[in-house]
Amino acid sequence: MTAAAPAASPAPPQVLLAHHLRQLKLPTFLREYEKVATEAAREGLDHVRFLLRLAELELIDRERRMVERRIRAAHFSAVKSFDTFDFTAIPSLNKPLTLELARCEYLIARDNVIALGNSGTGKTHACLALGLAACQRGFPVSFFTAAGLVHQLMEARDERRLLKLQAQLAAVKLLIVDELGYVPLSQTGAELLFEIFSQRHERGSTIVTSNLPFEEWTSVFGNQRLTGALLDRLTHHVHILELNGESYRLKQSKARRRRDPRPPDEVAAAADPETGEIIRAS
Ligand code: ADP
Ligand code: MG
Repeated sequence: MTAAAPAASPAPPQVLLAHHLRQLKLPTFLREYEKVATEAAREGLDHVRFLLRLAELELIDRERRMVERRIRAAHFSAVKSFDTFDFTAIPSLNKPLTLELARCEYLIARDNVIALGNSGTGKTHACLALGLAACQRGFPVSFFTAAGLVHQLMEARDERRLLKLQAQLAAVKLLIVDELGYVPLSQTGAELLFEIFSQRHERGSTIVTSNLPFEEWTSVFGNQRLTGALLDRLTHHVHILELNGESYRLKQSKARRRRDPRPPDEVAAAADPETGEIIRAS
């Protein structure tokens, strides 16, 4: 007769708990429960309050992780907010309207936003900030330059996955198309872009920025009829942001030059060779 094998000793409860919390996807709960348990014991909290504190921590962290995921998925060219935007630098921009848009109600109404103005006036900064605000409020966002979007559409068409890309673009709550107007589009490019705007019409919001006034959009799309139809859709429910004025960068470099009146050569000599930053104060 053989003796029964000794029963395996049960895993310690911490190991099982860690396993279950991972399966339940509660990473904050797992990371924090020992610390919160110590706090709860010290403060004399009952079990319900102990659990409540952990649940709150998990929720806060989950929200933060989701915002980060939406920001990554948006593929912003940079992450910028209105916190670093100087409204006094661009008096033509309607500040109350811009801040109202940052509250994202236009996304629920499925309105569009068009930001127009010459180069360097903060159009990209403003649309990035609106995109970030949307991510923070729980809306999925996709950011493209007009040229980049057209490129992706053409590539998808060549690879027979245009319908899939179109469906993805139609589903996103906010589509940002930056820099319409810098590059004229081919006829196919113009038609593909038109189709995207058309499919999104009244289904989701689109933000477009352009250095060109509406009258000149035909030069981008190369076709008056198409441009008319496109403007008709885009401007049906639209908020227009006007950013006309001196380029912010130009103004900043002029201000720097005013602070350092030496000739540019001398300034360059005093600049850090790697970063180009001025290392000798005037
Ligand atoms: P645009 O898209 O109109 O050409 P950008 O948004 O790219 O202009 O602005 C150029 C640079 O100047 C960016 O680095 C941007 O962050 C900065 N900038 C522009 N306007 C402002 C502003 N009003 N306040 C703060 N930074 C600004
Ligand atoms: Mg720009």
